[in-house]
Order: sequence, then C-alpha cells, then structure tokens
Amino acid sequence: MTQQMHSPILVLADQAGSRLTSLARQAVTLAASLTSGDVVALSVASVPDTAALAELGATRVLHADLGAAGHSSVVASDAVIAALGTDSYGLVLASSDYRGREIAGRVAALTEAGVVSGASSVSFEGGVLQVGKTALGGSWSMGIVLEGQTPIVGISSGIIDEAPVASPASLAPEPLAVELSAEASVIEVVSSVADEEEGVSLADASTVVCGGRGVDGDFELVRSLADALGGAVGATRVACDEGWAPRAEQIGQTGLTVTPNLYIGLGVSGAIHHTVGMQSAAHIVAVCDDPDAPIFEIADFGVVGDVAEVVPAALAIIEEARAQA
Ligand SMILES: Cc1cc2nc3c(=O)[nH]c(=O)nc-3n(C[C@H](O)[C@H](O)[C@H](O)COP(=O)(O)OP(=O)(O)OC[C@H]3O[C@@H](n4cnc5c(N)ncnc54)[C@H](O)[C@@H]3O)c2cc1C
Repeated sequence: MTQQMHSPILVLADQAGSRLTSLARQAVTLAASLTSGDVVALSVASVPDTAALAELGATRVLHADLGAAGHSSVVASDAVIAALGTDSYGLVLASSDYRGREIAGRVAALTEAGVVSGASSVSFEGGVLQVGKTALGGSWSMGIVLEGQTPIVGISSGIIDEAPVASPASLAPEPLAVELSAEASVIEVVSSVADEEEGVSLADASTVVCGGRGVDGDFELVRSLADALGGAVGATRVACDEGWAPRAEQIGQTGLTVTPNLYIGLGVSGAIHHTVGMQSAAHIVAVCDDPDAPIFEIADFGVVGDVAEVVPAALAIIEEARAQA
C-alpha cells in the first residue's frame, strides 16, 4: 500500500450525461487511496452524480454550474482554476482523454504547475509524488517525480480497480463561482449532443472490437461482432479521421488506453501509435489481409484475410455455438 498524503486532492469529475465517466470513477478511487485528507470532486455537469462520487470516496463536491459551456475544455479549465483557490491541494487528478489532456495542459500552463498525462500509476513515496507512464510508443516505462506547485496528473484507464468505500460521505454539492477568463468568455456553445449511452463503455469493456482503415467505413460490421460478444467498439485514428467512428472511440497514443480481456482488431495494421493504447489487453486477435502487418507480432491469434469474409463467418459460428449451447 502506497503512503498517503494529508493534503486534499481535487478530482475533475466528468460525467457522460447523468453518470460519472469510467475514468472519473477511477480518478476518485485513486484519490481516495492517495490521501487521508479530503477528496474534492469538481463537477461541471448540470446535476453532479453525488451517489457515485460518495460511493467511490469523495468527501466534498464543488459544483460549477456552467451549462453547456462546461463542455468546452477552456471553460472547464477556468472552473479547475477557481476550485484550486478553495483549498491547498496536493494534487489535481483528471482523465487522460482528449478533454482531460486539454484541461490539464491549460491549467498547468496558467498555474505554472507540473503536468503528466497518460499516467499508468500514481503513488506518494517519501513525501514525493511519483507518476509512472510509458514513453516512445510503449517501449520505455518512465517514473516521473512531481514536486512544487499543485501538480496535475491525467490518468489512463486501468490505473486502479474501483473500490467502494465502507462509509460513503453524505454529499451536498457546494456551488463554485467561476470567473471566466477572456478566452472562455468569448466561447458560445451553439449546440451539444450527448454521446449515446447505449452498450458497453469502451473504457470498462472486457471485450473490445476495433475497426481500422481495412473495414473501409463499414462500422456496422465492427458493431455486429462487438454486439455478438457483448463488447464495445473502438477505432483507430484513421477510422476516426475518416468520420467512421466518433473521436471518443479512438484507441492509442492520442486516444484512450484500454486493457480488456479480449481485443479484436479488424483491418488494423498495428502502428505503434495505436498499439500503445491496447497492447496490455490479455488476449489480442487480429484480422488483417496483410500477413506482414505489425499487429501480428503482438497478436495471440491472427487471421490473414478479408474482414468482409472473416467477420460474417465468425458471426455465423458464434450464432451456431449459441444455438447448440
Ligand atoms: C503523433 C501521432 C499520434 C497518433 N495517435 C494515434 C492513436 O491514438 N491511435 C491510432 O490508432 N493511431 C494513431 N496515429 C496514427 C497511426 O500512426 C496509424 O496511422 C494508424 O493507427 C493506422 O490506422 P489503421 O491501422 O486503421 O490503418 P492502416 O495502417 O492503413 O492499416 C489498415 C490495415 O488494414 C488492412 N486491410 C485493408 N483492407 C482490408 C480488408 N478488407 N480486410 C482486412 N484487412 C484489410 C491493410 O492491409 C492494413 O494492414 C497517430 C499518429 C501520430 C503521428
């Protein structure tokens, strides 16, 4: 068990609709394990998910009711800066997704704090914060010591297992006044559409089916296999750039890190920028028509073939096996 700091920890508690995101849940759990002081959740959602926050160990909730503007990372970073003024925090934890990285970078630049994103471990040893992360496409592991002004750490998925606390606090959101910066005050959110909350969340899924350029836009194919296996859909950056999949489904260096039990890559070549986000999967299966694709170097099971033939054949076998069970 890591040592604990006594200072409070501020956690950016982002929500998808009415519920805490998986990364935010892990960040709250991690904060509760790292400090004997307060775990202060900052929520910019219209209604903070206080039940989940309490269950995971938050002891206070600061609520910045910014409306749709809170979806902007510039506006949300102003809320973080306002929250930093409420106490003497030892650490800020955020999610290492697109939004979290933007917020962490902006807050760190404005407060001159140290910042690390993509953290795979955070511990407090000998009075010093230590952060682990991989570098150079996953070929190196780094240990980073963070000292000085309240540092900011963006965490990757899988950093800690959620652990409900024995005695959840009774949380009443405390309103937080946010003074918007010049940059934030010119932002007008003209429309915002919540991500559909259907299916299994990518960060939590024990099975991930990922589509790459090789599916040639046919994400129904990817989704049909994910549905048959009770898994979530992921995508390579190329697939997101093409508009075949939402950016939130991107796996890799500049997307999400996933650690499922089973990862299936469909038409994915296995570029290092992608594999750094999925190589910790317990089992890796690849379907790709190029026998020399690097994904086969890390795959436990590989099929050299056309996804348009292999996936329907696999679905038929799954269906047949279910019918016989
Ligand atoms: C700074 C930086 C950050 C990046 N971050 C990310 C990131 O976070 N995530 C990410 O994914 N990428 C990232 N990339 C991009 C990355 O380098 C690759 O370009 C990308 O991962 C390739 O995606 P892909 O495998 O879908 O496409 P490709 O590399 O083009 O591979 C497609 C594969 O599908 C095969 N194929 C084609 N047709 C079929 C078929 N019908 N059936 C079966 N197989 C078929 C092809 O032979 C090929 O092997 C980043 C790049 C940079 C420079």
